[in-house]
Amino acid sequence: MMKQDTEEYNTCPLNWDCEKCDKSLCLRIVAVADFPTVHGHFKIVGFINNKDKKDHIMVVKGNVAGRENILTRPHSSCVTGDALGSLQCDCGPQLAKSLTRIDKEGCGLLLYMQQEGRGIGLTNKIRAYMLEDLGEDTYDANVDLGFKPDERSYELAAAMLKRFDVRSIRLLTNNPGKITELERYGVKVSQRVPLEINPNKYNRNYLKTKKTRFGHLPSLQAATLQKSARAIAKRRRR
Ligand SMILES: [Zn+2]
Ligand SMILES: [Zn+2]
Repeated sequence: MMKQDTEEYNTCPLNWDCEKCDKSLCLRIVAVADFPTVHGHFKIVGFINNKDKKDHIMVVKGNVAGRENILTRPHSSCVTGDALGSLQCDCGPQLAKSLTRIDKEGCGLLLYMQQEGRGIGLTNKIRAYMLEDLGEDTYDANVDLGFKPDERSYELAAAMLKRFDVRSIRLLTNNPGKITELERYGVKVSQRVPLEINPNKYNRNYLKTKKTRFGHLPSLQAATLQKSARAIAKRRRR
């Protein structure tokens, strides 16, 4: 973000782009550009906001304004997975698959949200990896570092959709928690579209943790879930 961006907030709601702002959240589109990629040809949109002051972006295909059932992927940034090709998570393949799907459909959007490591930040995520090297799962590692298991918020994602006047979405995710979170901020989710990635030997445990401890779908065997629920209960008693 530039210094002038920060200064501009002070003029909200007098700015031309602030019609859809509510009192506590000012979100503005500052740039739209052509965006050819290996996954397809899109437009890319840059936003600024006064809430977390991070540079969130939208990759969009076709005309989404005022339309229903827009194929939508909210994707939280993962530098290690998205850019460096880490095999420890499934973010990179999920990102690629989402963009390919949106391109194939000819209409849809991806919200690339700057909330690294479930919102704990990049360096803290590496701290969590260190604990995972010692045998903890990603859920406990975040808690041991003093964070909530998931620190992400979907308020800005919802505001970005509202800004583009998207009426309802088909949500690309395995995480039903995202439906609840987006609905909390007024997004109408008409359908969940699964986004399954084949595990590799490095992320198998991570993907299992996502299912057993973060409630991602499709659910594992009931026995595994019960075992996990017992482990969580035991931890709470401690
Ligand atoms: Zn505003
Ligand atoms: Zn990742």
